[in-house]
Amino acid sequence: MSTDESPTDAAGPLVRVEDLQKYFWENDSVFDRLLGDEPVAVRAVDGVSFDVDRGETLGLVGESGCGKSTTGETLLRLQEPTDGRVEFAGRDVYDLESDDLDEFRREAQVVFQDPFSSLDPRMTIGDIVRQPLDVHDVGTGADRRERVRDLLERVGLSADQLDRYPHEFSGGQRQRIGIARALALEPEFLVLDEPTSALDVSVQAQVLNLLEDLQTEFDLTYLLISHDLSVIRHICDRVAVMYLGEIVEIGPVESIFEDPKHPYTQALLESVPRATTDERERDRETISGDVPSPRDPPSGCRFRTRCPKVIPPGDLEIDQEEYRAIMDLRERLERHDVSLASVDGADLESDEGPVPPEEVSAFVAELKSRLLETELSDRHDENVEAALSNLASSDWEAATERLASEYESVCERRNPKLGDAHHPVACHLFTDVDAADGERRRGGGGESN
Ligand code: SF4
Repeated sequence: MSTDESPTDAAGPLVRVEDLQKYFWENDSVFDRLLGDEPVAVRAVDGVSFDVDRGETLGLVGESGCGKSTTGETLLRLQEPTDGRVEFAGRDVYDLESDDLDEFRREAQVVFQDPFSSLDPRMTIGDIVRQPLDVHDVGTGADRRERVRDLLERVGLSADQLDRYPHEFSGGQRQRIGIARALALEPEFLVLDEPTSALDVSVQAQVLNLLEDLQTEFDLTYLLISHDLSVIRHICDRVAVMYLGEIVEIGPVESIFEDPKHPYTQALLESVPRATTDERERDRETISGDVPSPRDPPSGCRFRTRCPKVIPPGDLEIDQEEYRAIMDLRERLERHDVSLASVDGADLESDEGPVPPEEVSAFVAELKSRLLETELSDRHDENVEAALSNLASSDWEAATERLASEYESVCERRNPKLGDAHHPVACHLFTDVDAADGERRRGGGGESN
């Protein structure tokens, strides 16, 4: 930074992200407005906060589409934020202008996922690595050429190769070129966006080892974005787990891997392929379904549409698997995601008076067998049948209300907050649920029923 850094800045985290939001807008053109269409917010990043300490590697992990890359790009100002604040060495990144902004761009660099598309195929690798030095007018021509030679050697390539083109290199070598380019301006901070996911497994470890060596040699601070938990474990000090634009758990890497608390983190870890037969054969609680759309995220906890531990009402006696099955059914009914036309007897709606009960029963039995794989105990079976019977007359509202009145969860009413403990987790299993909600709190370990 061009202005003096205060002692407090030097002592604090290098990067501080506070309540960062990045929304993209759809239906927001003049034409859409003329047609009367309302803009729709796509909430890619929705209020994330974290620090990255000097010299540390913070991992950002989650399934694709959960907002990891957008978080990295927004904190680097490659995208403008919708709201929130990012500090770099104590300075507000979004307030920086002219020389200060230039300096931030030198100090904070990015390595992209795809080492081929991120390198201009018409430029030699010498010119690619030299480009940031030219843009920022660093040193003389001879200095720059020498610096490029040094950088290529440092990342494990030969300085004699600087007149070659990217297509002449393997994927791993191209990623080394991308790393050399990111280091050209002697940055303090690198965002590594899936730096090894396009590489062969045999090459991934080499690139990760190189990144670790460079971190030590140049006192670098990393934000490592990856969907690959083995990469995170290999290189990170702490991990933040993202789901649908939010951080749901953050903590030291050993703590997250040895004692994952959030059901999403647990399911992510369970989905990692097992090395031994014993491990492969043990029960695994994997995540079903896809990440919901950030255009219309679920109310309350965003993971509740997939969570195997979603919390039933406090006064409800129900097996956890049954409850999950009923919540899935509710979701489908609320979305009208059930084809009634293909169910035998779906034409029950008639002008000729009430439908005979036996026809409704047959319709409900058919529908239930299609929609529910889990066997329900008597009481819940009756509730579901009563709800489904409303569909005989296509009364979706009555069907969904019937189930909502009996099975509504605190997880759909309230979004759990992350808190600020050593290893915080955003899940009602670990927070005091308001007594007014009358919910059962399954405190402490988040054990399933
Ligand atoms: S708040 Fe509820 S739905 Fe969300 S992770 Fe915790 S138990 Fe699951």
